Amino acid sequence: MRSWGHIIPPGGRPRKARGRSISYHTAMAHLTAGHDGGARVRSLPELSSDELQRYGRHLVLPDVGLEGQRKLKAGRVLLVGAGGLGSPVALYLAAAGVGTLGLIDFDVVDISNLQRQVLHGTSDVGRSKLESARDRIRDVNPHVAVDTYEMRLTSVNALDILSDYDVVVDGTDNFATRYLTNDACVLLGKPNIYGSIFRFEGQASVFATERGPCYRCLYPDPPPPGLVPSCAEGGVLGVLPGIVGTIQATEALKLLLGIGEPLVGRLLLIDALGSRFRVVSLERDPTCPACGTREIRELLDYDAFCGSVTSPDADVISEMTPTELSQRLSRGDAPDIIDVREPYEWQIARIPSARLIPLGTLHREASSLDPGREIVVYCHHGIRSAHAAEQLRAAGFTRVRNLAGGIARWSEEVDPTVPKY
Ligand SMILES: [Zn+2]
Repeated sequence: MRSWGHIIPPGGRPRKARGRSISYHTAMAHLTAGHDGGARVRSLPELSSDELQRYGRHLVLPDVGLEGQRKLKAGRVLLVGAGGLGSPVALYLAAAGVGTLGLIDFDVVDISNLQRQVLHGTSDVGRSKLESARDRIRDVNPHVAVDTYEMRLTSVNALDILSDYDVVVDGTDNFATRYLTNDACVLLGKPNIYGSIFRFEGQASVFATERGPCYRCLYPDPPPPGLVPSCAEGGVLGVLPGIVGTIQATEALKLLLGIGEPLVGRLLLIDALGSRFRVVSLERDPTCPACGTREIRELLDYDAFCGSVTSPDADVISEMTPTELSQRLSRGDAPDIIDVREPYEWQIARIPSARLIPLGTLHREASSLDPGREIVVYCHHGIRSAHAAEQLRAAGFTRVRNLAGGIARWSEEVDPTVPKY
């Protein structure tokens, strides 16, 4: 799968809480639960002399040691997607000695993948990604068993496939598979190690643990179709899946070993250009249909849930540049400025005198806006706000403009003290 899965927050309502910490013991609780929810006592495998030599740098680590290495050998990790994120995850988990890696993908290696999908090489172009991945993993570490699933993950096969693994790593490139993976992990009680990338930014978290939030707690609904461009459309810095995927691999190793503090209840935001890492606290949403009310008892039709792809009609939405808005603000002739991002983004950075109305609540809040006034909408990069502008125009607001490039361009052109994220 191509690795574009970065989620610019859609119209949902991220919920967060400060000062909450969830121990690894909570996250690890799932690793000892069998398919039926009962305890699964697994005797740890022995290591051969070759393995003892191979893992020497782990064996001397106080928190790993021989027992930890045997835990890794007993570990079973499923990678959903063998693309940009799946590449470093597969390579590092194999090198670290995770005993069984499951890979699900149905794509063929394309030359345009090689800029970031380091699991595959030039000689693999045209081959199945799974064949390519299996050969590479075998070369990295012949002690690793590789299960391959050359198919699309669907609501029909997901529970069966995921149930065989301790930990699931989400390296998907589309919302339908991302929600499907999340819901299946919640239903099965499997930790879901989430990662996503877009352009110069990435996100990572650990969802669906016993007490932590899930992906739907953060993003209850998928974004409107076409809102978030893919890597193919929006581009991605080649190294970015390496950063995010390596963090996902780290989380997988921590969960298998039962050490450290996993990214449960925390969302890591990575800004490669600014060399900034931020952590936002998240908490489980009691109204989440997956892990809160548990009204999702079986998997849905995720293609229908996420809708088909359309794009906003750019022709009818006029734009305003950050410089023009800044001049209007200094002249005291500013339009009404509406920020359609999510509350956690608002906490990070905002434009003076703006009002926060997350895109998902705009339909409810539009009646509080003055249709006689000029309105400028903005978001992170100008994509969500283009949809917001279109929504407002459809609701009868004729003087709506979109801030070109969003707050990211505002930070570049107008006020560099506004943090980039
Ligand atoms: Zn949830």
